[in-house]
Amino acid sequence: MRVVVVHGGVRISRPRPGGRSRDGEIVDKLMDVAERARRVLLAGSALDAVEEAVRIMEEDPTFNAGYGSALNLVGEVEVDASIMDGSTMRAGAVGAVRGVLHPVTLARAVMERTPHVLLVGEGAREFARKLGLGGDEDLVHESRVSARREALRGALGGGSAGGTMPARDLIGIYGVGETVGAVALDGEGRLAAATSTGGLTLKLPGRVGDSAVVGAGTYADGRAACSGTGVGEAAIVEAGAFRVVEAVGRGLHPRRAAEEVLDIIRRETGREFGFIVVDRSGRVGVAQMGYGLFWASATDEGVEGGIEGGG
Ligand code: ASP
Repeated sequence: MRVVVVHGGVRISRPRPGGRSRDGEIVDKLMDVAERARRVLLAGSALDAVEEAVRIMEEDPTFNAGYGSALNLVGEVEVDASIMDGSTMRAGAVGAVRGVLHPVTLARAVMERTPHVLLVGEGAREFARKLGLGGDEDLVHESRVSARREALRGALGGGSAGGTMPARDLIGIYGVGETVGAVALDGEGRLAAATSTGGLTLKLPGRVGDSAVVGAGTYADGRAACSGTGVGEAAIVEAGAFRVVEAVGRGLHPRRAAEEVLDIIRRETGREFGFIVVDRSGRVGVAQMGYGLFWASATDEGVEGGIEGGG
């Protein structure tokens, strides 16, 4: 049984009127990504497949990852990513790194070429430069410039932000979603997960979210693989992805496991979140508590996709 599941983020805030016009196009893109990653799975590992899926989405400014990432408070792109190989329990991650189009590949390099798990900021950028994995790429897309401007205007107009520090509730109002992630099970029973994001619009420079934190936004072991999306701070304090995998380990169906952890996140933090999961038997779970989670999956039987919840 071979399976790839991908997500294109959960909506953290209610879409405005007309804000759903590209939904069908996004689902089509995700189905294409899932199918391309499945082809990688035929020749390679679950790890190769999740990296490839995320790389494709990092190049597409539709998504909030790599090129076209959300802009922080001062108008810069700082990306987070992580990847985990459940068959070896090795993981790599990068946080708040600038100028790198494919942070997922940089995260994999941290895993495979250093004794560390997480590199951040200028150190991560310098590591990318040394390996020829970028470090000076322009990742700003015009659509994010206007989105940030609008968010800033709303924040200052509403009187809830001081100009240098986003108020707590801004996360809920201006969170963009569109983060990307992938989980896979390969023909040898290996599981892997990866997640990549530009984070939240108007985040403080240097902020690192769950997508760079193993156990929060990404986790895989011999039982299941999970990638999350939503308000990262919530998944960090709740160890979101790890808990989902633990719940699968207790015998829950991946979907039930994700729902159980989402209930906890909602109850204890009040924040929106979503997960994709695959277990070692190839059972898939997609669940969210936001305003819709974009996903697609590809197996030997075919490809499907949609928007989970939030209707
Ligand atoms: N989890 C991401 C973050 O907090 C954002 C998202 O999933 O949309 O950086």
